[in-house]
This record gives sequence, structure tokens and C-alpha cells, in this order.
Amino acid sequence: MTTATTRDLDAIVVGAGFAGLYMLHRLRSLGLTVRAFEAGSGVGGTWFWNRYPGARCDVESMEYSYQFSDELQQDWQWTERYSSQPEILRYLNHVADRFDLRGDIQLETRVESAVYDEESARWTVRTSDGGQWSARYFIMATGCLSSTNLPKFPGQDTFRGQTFHTGRWPHEGVDFSGKRVAVIGTGSSAVQAIPLIAEEAEHLYVFQRTPNFSIPARNHPLDPAEVARIKKDYAELRSRAAGMPFGFNTRSEEVAALDVSEQERLAEYERRWESGGLPFLGAFSDLITSREANDTAADFVRAKIREIVRDREVADLLTPRTVLGCKRLCSDTHYYETFNRPNVTLIDVTSRPIEALTPGGLTAGGVEYEVDAIVFATGFDAMTGALLAVDIRGRDGLALRQKWSEGPRTYLGLATAGFPNLFFITGPGSPSVLSNMVPSIEQHVNWISACIAYLRSSGKSSIEPNRDAENAWALHVNEIADATLYPTCNSWYIGANIPGKPRVFMPYLGFPEYVEKADAIAANGYEGFELSAQK
Ligand code: FAD
Repeated sequence: MTTATTRDLDAIVVGAGFAGLYMLHRLRSLGLTVRAFEAGSGVGGTWFWNRYPGARCDVESMEYSYQFSDELQQDWQWTERYSSQPEILRYLNHVADRFDLRGDIQLETRVESAVYDEESARWTVRTSDGGQWSARYFIMATGCLSSTNLPKFPGQDTFRGQTFHTGRWPHEGVDFSGKRVAVIGTGSSAVQAIPLIAEEAEHLYVFQRTPNFSIPARNHPLDPAEVARIKKDYAELRSRAAGMPFGFNTRSEEVAALDVSEQERLAEYERRWESGGLPFLGAFSDLITSREANDTAADFVRAKIREIVRDREVADLLTPRTVLGCKRLCSDTHYYETFNRPNVTLIDVTSRPIEALTPGGLTAGGVEYEVDAIVFATGFDAMTGALLAVDIRGRDGLALRQKWSEGPRTYLGLATAGFPNLFFITGPGSPSVLSNMVPSIEQHVNWISACIAYLRSSGKSSIEPNRDAENAWALHVNEIADATLYPTCNSWYIGANIPGKPRVFMPYLGFPEYVEKADAIAANGYEGFELSAQK
């Protein structure tokens, strides 16, 4: 039953980043009535929010972009190997205009709750503007890295200076010139922002909990001849990438590090260090499965850090002891070099924990650091944060927060038992953050669209996974992860950055295998799902 104030739709999409925009486009092409709700005041998701200095992608732009429209990928001109945030945001705005999506996107509106009604097999969705909507399909395109993590320190409200989170950066930019600045965190965002803030600030204090491995990005303007060559047969690049473990061209090798001589290994690492970026991890086939192999790559980077950073003690603090790639590998422009600057101080918060914020700055290890601004580069409540921020209730009023209290449970990362017609784009249990996310998003959107088209053409009202399939999937995701080194460190892949978050390894490792399985399940009549007849 819907009330007079409830508006009916076929589908609701939450979020208007890469995922929400494409989902909206596909569902409209199927002839559905759809509305996308976006909390931000513009489209773009990650690229709308993360405007910190140096923000850019670290998968090459020619691959970190949609492939669903050949006209789009032919027309759009990326200017750099790794595009900057403003350029990616321009691209996503172009997509919104080109496919005429804006009319069905409601900005500055947060979806707050969604309740499933078994009688009608529909979702009732409430939004922050007081709206109430009813839809058959409810699709979370809320992003894996959109719910910011802001640690609480005593005295937080007493600090008189400015505070920023890299994932909620002011649109007008920030001028740090002449300012003393603290950056808290040394993950991917910090690694990009620190060199640029250091150039501007009077003094920069970097508060580091765990050092991270970073490979020079070697960003450069794109050569038009190279772009033309790719565009001549874009499909070839895309299909090669689809066969790679992470869904982008990591130039992964079949050869194991331990099967070649030390000289050959070092030569390959050097080549990859020089060509730059995340493909470093593709140097040998056993880098993420064998600790001994991984040590050879990790030692290479550790030696580079010692070569670059002049102060022995600082170099030592910046040197990760963990497995290379186990936490998200970073990619930088002059990150380690920045610590040679006289205006940059590194503070190790393992030995000197941050105790409090004070009116004039912050104290760590009993020392007060006077600063004018604090930048929290403290990342996100990854993968589940934005999903659980919405109060989602499935069959029998079961809350998703309750169901996932011990960690997320999904089938294919696309759906969860007890929540019919609820779909996640790049949900936990799918390749998501362990892949080039744009092709992963497109693959999920295509799968969901085909599924909805099938439901409609076969007179079914709902689909949801059965618990056996879901349990088997959880075991499968874990088995794959356990055969690698990924679960061996405290990364956000297992929720370790959020106090109290259940430790579950969330992403699915292996893009090609995943796609094959998801396709086979659909081809076998949605094996492992329960489909109900039309209401
Ligand atoms: P998002 O872009 O996060 O969009 C989700 C949107 O949903 C947000 O705008 C949010 O406001 C909205 N939303 C969430 N909850 C609600 C709600 N309840 N109501 C209304 N709206 C809501 N991935 C790569 O593969 N390669 C890269 O190089 C890369 N670089 C990155 C760099 C940075 C700085 C960051 C933070 C992430 C990066 N990523 C990268 C991951 C990136 O998040 C994805 O590639 C991609 O942009 C995700 O798109 P999305 O649409 O799924 O989610």
C-alpha cells in the first residue's frame, strides 16, 4: 500500500558517481522509471568529494574510464597518463550531460532508510528532504570509499585552526601558504597530497601510524600518437585488461620471482620502478602468494626509500615492514623526496601516539605541535560504511546492520539473502577495490540490468540469494584470500582501520574468474538465487 505522498518508481539508485550514473543510464534504456539520489551537490562521487591537492587516479586514464559507449571513449580526450581530480570530474559531468541523466538525479538528498514490503514486493525509501518513494528495485551505488573515517581525539572541538578531511575537501581549495600544517595519515590520499602541501606550507608535520609502500607514478602528458594507437583498437586494450587479475593492464608476468636469478629480478623491479605505478606488483606471478617472493620486491622498494631519503632515522620510519601490496599499494609524485625538505617533519605515532587536539595544535608523545590547520587523511569506512549508513530493512523487518553485525555476507557481492531486489554495485565479496573499479562497476551494472530485464520478461517480482549459496560464496572469497598474503596485515580490506569493525576480508581476488562465475550463474537461470512470481 502506498500513501498519497509516496511516489512510485520502478527503481531507485543511491549515488551518482561512476556506478550510479551508468546504472541510471542502463535502467532508463530498459524503459524503467528511475530516480537517483545523491547526497552531494553535484555528480561524480569520489571525484566530486576528493578535491585535495594532488588527487588523481592511479589506474591509467585510458583504462580508468567507461567502455560502454565506444563513441564516448573515442570522443573523450584524456590529457595525462593519470588524470587529475578536476579532469575526471569534468568527464563525469560530461557523461551526465551526454546521456541526458540530470533530469532523473536528485542532488543534495540523502537516502536515509529503505524498508521492504513483502506483500507488494516493493521497497519504501525515505530521503533527507522528507520524501517517500516506492520502488521495486533498490540499488546501492553508494561507493566503496565514500564514507569518511574521522577519528575522534580528546579536545577535538577546542582546536582553533582549520580542519579538513581529504575526502570532503572544500570546493574553493585551501591556501596553505605561510601556514603550519599537520597531516594525519599516510595512505593513498596522503601520499598524493603531502608533496604539494609541503611545497606550500611554512611547515608540515606528517603523523604516521604505518608506513606504506609507494611506487613513483611517473605521470606525464599523454602522447597523442599513443592515444590514437589505442583508440584505433580500444576493444583490444579493454579485452586484454579484462583478462588481468585486477582488471587493468598490470602487464602481469607468468614467471615466478623465485624462479629467476637475483639479477633478473632486480632488473625487472628496476624496469617497473622506472615505468612507474601499480603495475610494479605484476612483476612476478608469486608476489602476492609467497612471502619469500614478496620480500624480494619489498626489499627492492625499501632500498629505494633508503636511497632517496637522506636522514637515516626518517628513512627507517618511512620503511614498511609489511608485505608489499598487502595494504593498498600507493603511487606518488615525489613522496619520499618530500621528507628531505627542511620544512617537513615526520612523527611516528606508534611510539608517540596523538594524545589530544589543543587550541593551538595537537600533542603527541607529550610534545605539543603548534599548527594552523589539520588535514585528516584518515581514509574511509571502506566497502560497508555507506551501505550500513542507510537503515535498510528486508524480510521480517531484518536490519542489514543486524545481519552484517559479524561482517558483510553477500552472494557475488551483488545481493544478500533476506533482502529481495536489493542490489549492491561493487559490494563486499566482489572484486571492487582490488580491481580497476570502472570496469568492475560496468560489469555489475550490466549484470544487474540483465537480471532486471530477465525478471520483467519472465514475470518474476523478486530475486534474492539463498543462504546456502551465500554461505558458500563467503567461504569461496575467504579461501581465495587465504591462499594469498592479503589477510596478513591490518588493512582496510579487512576493516582494520575502523575500531570495532568486524575483521572480514571483503574484496574478491581475481577479476576474470569473478566475471566468469557471475556470468555462469546468470546463464544457469540465476543459480543460487530464489526468484518469486509476479505480485
Ligand atoms: P562513489 O564515487 O564513491 O560515489 C558514491 C556516491 O554515493 C557518493 O557521491 C555519495 O555521496 C553517494 N551516497 C552515498 N550514500 C548515499 C546516501 N545514503 N544517499 C545519497 N547519496 C549517497 N579506483 C580505481 O579503480 N582506480 C583509481 O585510480 C582510484 N583512485 C581513487 C582515488 C581516490 C582519492 C579515491 C577516494 C578513490 C579512488 N578509487 C579508484 C576508488 C573510487 O572510489 C572508484 O574508482 C569509483 O570512483 C567509485 O565510484 P562509485 O560510483 O561506485 O562510488
